[in-house]
Amino acid sequence: MNNPYQNALTQLKKVGEVLNLDEKVVSQLGQINHFHRGELEVKMDDGTTKKFTAFRSQHNDARGPYKGGIRFHPNVSEEEVKALSMWMTWKCATVGIPYGGAKGGVIVNPKELSQGELERLSRAYADFVTPFIGIWKDIPAPDVHTNPQIMAWMLDEYEKNIGFHQPGTFTGKPIEIGGSQGRTQATGLGGVYVLENFLHYLQEKNQEWAKKDKKDITIAIQGFGNVGYYFAQEAHKRGYKIVALSDSKGAIFTEEEGFDPEEVRKHKEETGSVKNFAGAKNISNEELLELPVDILVPAALESVITKDNAEKVQARMIIEMANGPVTPEADAILTEKGIYSIPDILSNAGGVTVSYFEWAQDIQGYYWEEKEVEERLKKIMARASQLVWENFNSLQENDEGANLRLAAYSLAVRRVVQVMTLRGKI
Ligand code: NAD
Repeated sequence: MNNPYQNALTQLKKVGEVLNLDEKVVSQLGQINHFHRGELEVKMDDGTTKKFTAFRSQHNDARGPYKGGIRFHPNVSEEEVKALSMWMTWKCATVGIPYGGAKGGVIVNPKELSQGELERLSRAYADFVTPFIGIWKDIPAPDVHTNPQIMAWMLDEYEKNIGFHQPGTFTGKPIEIGGSQGRTQATGLGGVYVLENFLHYLQEKNQEWAKKDKKDITIAIQGFGNVGYYFAQEAHKRGYKIVALSDSKGAIFTEEEGFDPEEVRKHKEETGSVKNFAGAKNISNEELLELPVDILVPAALESVITKDNAEKVQARMIIEMANGPVTPEADAILTEKGIYSIPDILSNAGGVTVSYFEWAQDIQGYYWEEKEVEERLKKIMARASQLVWENFNSLQENDEGANLRLAAYSLAVRRVVQVMTLRGKI
């Protein structure tokens, strides 16, 4: 069976070899500092009480307080939460924001809960984690099926427990109670910054396709939720040609001028799906991944590019906006084919970066305008892209099989090791 934590450890081992790290250090880096498990008791609308298993995994806090989202999903497991918390450590280190990595989750199908039950579950989760979180300790945020409203309930419960205000303990909050301007679109926008940074590097490397006019650079995006929509919107605004879009019900494709994401959003709002958009051809989500486009953007689920379809991917560059959309076997195939896959820990780090801005604003009690948030995000994504690209080029001098994922991970792990060494931990 697929064990995500074991996969994360295997990945770390590979990076350890590249960085020439001692086995003892690699094993230390793979350890979860604290793992908390609880049974949340929630009063249901029918008067009964139901129990839900909850987790908080705190992987490593060498670089700063633990940081990571809370997932409400029936498939949440201890192994998944542990892997995701390690992933957060590497993501924060890649973009150089002062956090460690954490993740939380509850085994629940939130779609089966009423609004009142969801609120009581969220408050019960906040009660469970109150002893382990805090502005300088661990800062949760939304993840799959949690949202700003849920963060508002959790913050309210947490502040009730500690007896004073501390809005910076949760990020991804509504703006009215200490959220940041620009947080909603941050992940998509950050992804477009990464796209433009890498197009620039590939132009310098004389990759002819990257030199095309923006209006001729074709993009296919899987997933039209928060991340996919804002990515599409921003890319369209900058003049790129969006030729395919999709949601869970199916995909659409056009060879004409490209989609206006706003028009597609309206159609989805009216009909419940992107499918049957006027003038477009309906295709499947599988077909979307295999289109002859320049750029492919998986922005929905994990493990969509696997050993079974990686051979058929025709894109020249993949921007991994979902977490874990490319399996390790597929990664090797893409590298062999010369396709640049920009890893999730860089591509989708815009979200956690603006969460960092939210935390910083909450601490100073002074809030920035959207323009300032965007400018600072752009700077951080540019610096991280540049470092990953430079690291990739130097890794390639010794190993032609090195790819951007290895470059990002080794940059991140090196940064964590540096701080652990300074702290005398290794
Ligand atoms: P979302 O729920 O808003 O949107 C998900 C989209 O994927 C929806 O359009 C849904 O219809 C579509 N989808 C679901 N199943 C599908 C399928 N089988 N095929 C094609 N499309 C399908 O979620 P989101 O916040 O946009 O997150 C998307 C991905 O990005 C996730 O992997 C998430 O972990 C990752 N991510 C999100 C953020 C963030 O800030 N929201 C940050 C980092 C990473």
